Amino acid sequence: MSEEIKEKKGFFKRLREGLSKTRNNIAESFSNIFKANEIDDDFYEELEETLIMSDMGFETTEKIIDDLKDKVKELKIKEAEACRELIINIIRDQMSVEDSAYDFENKKTVIFVIGVNGVGKTTSIGKLAAQYKAQGKKVLMAAADTFRAAAIDQLKTWSDRAGVEIIAQNEGADPSAVVFDAVSAAKARNTDILLVDTAGRLHNKKNLMDELAKMRRIISKEYPDANVESLIVLDGTTGQNALEQARQFSSVTEINGIIITKLDGTAKGGIAIAIQSELNVPVKYIGIGEKIDDLQKFDPNSYVTALFADFDVKSDIEMIIDSDIEKIQPDDDLFDV
Ligand code: GDP
Ligand code: MG
Repeated sequence: MSEEIKEKKGFFKRLREGLSKTRNNIAESFSNIFKANEIDDDFYEELEETLIMSDMGFETTEKIIDDLKDKVKELKIKEAEACRELIINIIRDQMSVEDSAYDFENKKTVIFVIGVNGVGKTTSIGKLAAQYKAQGKKVLMAAADTFRAAAIDQLKTWSDRAGVEIIAQNEGADPSAVVFDAVSAAKARNTDILLVDTAGRLHNKKNLMDELAKMRRIISKEYPDANVESLIVLDGTTGQNALEQARQFSSVTEINGIIITKLDGTAKGGIAIAIQSELNVPVKYIGIGEKIDDLQKFDPNSYVTALFADFDVKSDIEMIIDSDIEKIQPDDDLFDV
């Protein structure tokens, strides 16, 4: 077995383990629906309830059910069990992430990491820094969350852990001044990726908008050849609140991607699907633990498989573990029992 395939298997196993609590939250009710004898109004109602309970959100749930109804009619499906695979495929189609979504990783880029307090911004920056560094990139961090000294110290700890440099000032410093310093350092040191940690507790929308706009202006003025990537971090365990935060932030600033954290906890998983589908902004990374390597690129295929496939059926588990994940196509009969 090649090292690459081994690595992929390990990756998928960790994702599945990380999502196990999340899975337990929905898998059973999801499975029970398909024990129905007929595809009738009751069946659709139960399905709707389960999807909403999994944090899929009303809009997304309706979209999925409408699609399913069309497919059931078109393919003249009579058995409820056959709908499992259809739904999984419908969800996967809605979540496809364009290949270009990660182009920024290979450009000279400034990544703004935004989001409310406590969602996992600083932690995710630490994890990203370690990944980029492992890819041979020159990485720099900027401690632009200057509200508390502890926030700056926390980022310093992560910079040590990841083995990358950090630009910081004292508590209370103007975040834009920190960004200015960091940009000068990035240019002088020929940095590939500059990760900017931002404060999550700005008092109001205007304040937030002004702060983010100011930082972006500094980049376009002082570092015009750098690409800007703005990633919002959302705590997966907060369900519909996370969706609301994403809406709020996207109303004041451009967002290029989403990091959903704490999917190893009691998150209901559907939130990743709802956010992507309703805001049309791709989920790019997911956090599945507190350790430095507990952040993965979001792969809708593995995610939906890890979440919804019937792992109680042994052959499914073996099939997935034994296959080269890369070769699994959405149409593969992974879910046949
Ligand atoms: P910030 O305020 O947005 O910068 O959030 P922090 O990075 O300080 O994280 C807040 C808490 O969430 C910390 O205790 C982190 O260890 C924890 N955390 C962050 N990401 C994850 C994750 O993916 N899984 C789990 N279980 N905890 C996480
Ligand atoms: Mg922080």
